[in-house]
Amino acid sequence: MNYRHHFHAGNFADVLKHVVLRELWRALQRKPKALLYLDTHAGRGRYDLTRAAVGDRLERTPEWPDGIGRLIGREDLPAAVADYVGAVRSWSGGEDATGAAALQDYPGSPWLVQPLMRAEDRAVLTELHPEESALLEAEFHGVPRVRVLPQNGYDAVRAHLPPKERRALVLIDPPYESGDEISAVVTALETGLARLPGGTFAVWYPLTERARVNDLLARVERLKPPPTWIAEIEVVGANQGGPRMRGCGLLVVNPPWKLDEELASTVAWLGEALAQGPGATASLRWLVPES
Ligand code: SAM
Repeated sequence: MNYRHHFHAGNFADVLKHVVLRELWRALQRKPKALLYLDTHAGRGRYDLTRAAVGDRLERTPEWPDGIGRLIGREDLPAAVADYVGAVRSWSGGEDATGAAALQDYPGSPWLVQPLMRAEDRAVLTELHPEESALLEAEFHGVPRVRVLPQNGYDAVRAHLPPKERRALVLIDPPYESGDEISAVVTALETGLARLPGGTFAVWYPLTERARVNDLLARVERLKPPPTWIAEIEVVGANQGGPRMRGCGLLVVNPPWKLDEELASTVAWLGEALAQGPGATASLRWLVPES
């Protein structure tokens, strides 16, 4: 387990994931019944963006300037992006010498959902890396209705579903550093859907090679899942240079009704705002349409 999210926090992939995550949670709350938020790969919860420029030994190019950094000073944000940027801004607080919003800390997925929880909602956050889970535990110590467990996120799907609430949003956000991570994701999704067929599952995936993504999507389709859409951005086209991870997506099984219509233009807007080179695109499309 070499992956450390603080090098990547606030990058274009976090932007897409976190904007959609908050919209999913809000849309699921349109029904008054209680919800469980299960974050299987929760990370440490809070990221110091100044550390993103310092690797374990060598300097690195931070990724957040091409993510949240592109949005923080803009005033023409679509509502869902403005909501997310507002949440990040409330964390970092402050302004730099020019009066521009200054970014220091960046909230991870658990802190982007927890403030939206109602009194009846609950969160279970699992994180396997010992240092990350200890930091996460410290972050949420004493926060009501939030449980942090130093547990394998894939096991958590079996252990925590179905929840007593019978409703859940499950975020599966692994690092994809091992060769069989796609298999683990598909198995977790299959398990999760067997245990909670009406649950909403959001699976993040990186786009380095299109073939790998197609393999993931084909394997998900073979599960014959309920309605599923994909929000995807490519910040640069194939074979155009630029970052190795040139895009990413969020696959959403059992999305809230009509959220696709509300989010499609937001995803397209993000595609333009986060573009890094020729061939950048963004889309929200159904993998398994509603019947
Ligand atoms: N969800 C977080 C967010 O959006 O702020 C970022 C998570 S990061 C992409 C992936 C995390 O998964 C890392 O913190 C890593 O230590 C953790 N991890 C890796 N394998 C895991 C596993 N099998 N179970 C739980 N956590 C795992």
